[in-house]
Amino acid sequence: MIDTDSPAFSQQLLAWFDIAGRKDLPWQQNITPYRVWVSEIMLQQTQVTTVIDYYQRFMAQFPTVTSLAEAPVDQVLALWTGLGYYARARNLHKAAKLVCDKFDGEFPHDHQLLQQLPGVGRSTAAAIFSIACHGRAPILDGNVKRVLTRYAAIEGWPGIKHVENQLWELAEELTPEHRVADYTQAIMDLGATLCTRRKPQCSQCPVQNNCTSFAAGTQTLYPSKKPKKAIPTRQVFMLIIENKQGEVLLEQRPASGIWGGLWSFPESATSDELDHYLDKNCIANTTRQQWPVMRHTFSHFHLEITPIHVRLDRDFNTVMEAKQQLWYKGHPEQHVGLAAPVKKLLDAVFSADLLREA
Ligand code: SF4
Repeated sequence: MIDTDSPAFSQQLLAWFDIAGRKDLPWQQNITPYRVWVSEIMLQQTQVTTVIDYYQRFMAQFPTVTSLAEAPVDQVLALWTGLGYYARARNLHKAAKLVCDKFDGEFPHDHQLLQQLPGVGRSTAAAIFSIACHGRAPILDGNVKRVLTRYAAIEGWPGIKHVENQLWELAEELTPEHRVADYTQAIMDLGATLCTRRKPQCSQCPVQNNCTSFAAGTQTLYPSKKPKKAIPTRQVFMLIIENKQGEVLLEQRPASGIWGGLWSFPESATSDELDHYLDKNCIANTTRQQWPVMRHTFSHFHLEITPIHVRLDRDFNTVMEAKQQLWYKGHPEQHVGLAAPVKKLLDAVFSADLLREA
C-alpha cells in the first residue's frame, strides 16, 4: 500500500477547490444526472473550452432525457458534428432510450446500474453518481490518472491492467466520505488546470507537500507513455458528386464502424472501383477533378482521402445504389451528422459555388 496520507490529500484539495475551483461551467448549474451525464460524455476525449458551445446547443435542443430519446439519431449526430468520436453520440441516444424504457425516464441513483447504460463506464458512472446523486464512488478519468500517477509515482502506462488496478485502489483510498461531489470536481480541476500534461504548476498545487514525483523532480515523466506501435495507412477515394442545383450527393454510413450513422460521400478503395461506380451510375463521361489528398488520423490507422469532384451537367436525381442517399445543400434543417473531413470538403464545395455566383 502506498503511504498517501489520504485525509490530508482530500482536505487540501477541497480547501483549494473552495478558493480556486471552477464553479461556473454550464453543467455545474441546475445539476441533474441527465445534465452531468451529457457533460461527462462530451468531456471524454474533448477539452472543456470546446465542449461548452456544443453542450449549450445540445441542452437547448434536448433539455430532458425524454426529448433526447424521442429525437431521431440523425438529429443527435448532426449536433455532434465536429466533436469527433461519434460512437459517444450514438451511445448517448441509445442510453436515453434505455433510461426511458427501463427506468421510467429517471436516471438510477445507483453506481452499478448507471454502468449498464451504453457508453457509461465505471469512472463516468462515478462522476454522475457523486456529482448528481451525492453518492460515494471514486472517479478515474484521464486527468485523474495523470494526477495520481504523479502523486504516488506509479510506473507503467495506465492502459495496462495491473497499473489501472493500482490507480483504482489509490482513487478509492483517497476519495473522502463527505463532500464527494466537490472532491470529484476538485480532482478533475486539479488535473485540468494545474497538474497539466506538459507544464504542471506544482508551486501552486495544494497537494505538493506529499507528491512523490514533485519531491523527486520527475513529474513530467508520469504517466508513462503508451508503448508506440506503428499504425497503418488506408487510402480512400471520396466522390463529391454535385448536381446542377449545387447539391451534393451523400450516403448514410452503416450504423456501426468508423463514422457509423454519419453521412458521407460515395467512396471506393481503388480508382478502378471508382470508375465502376461512375459507369454503373451512367456518369462515367462527366468531367472530374482531383482535389489535394487529405489525411485524417484515427486511433488505429491513418486515412488518406483523395477527393474527386464531379459536376453533373444534366439532371440527375437518382443514383442506382440501394443505400440511404440524399442531395445535400448545407441547410441546418437537413439534420445530418458529418465527420470533420466530410464537413471540410462540403464547405469547400459550397464556398467555391458562392464565389462562382458572386
Ligand atoms: S505537485 Fe505537481 S505533479 Fe504533484 S500533483 Fe501537484 S501539480 Fe501534479
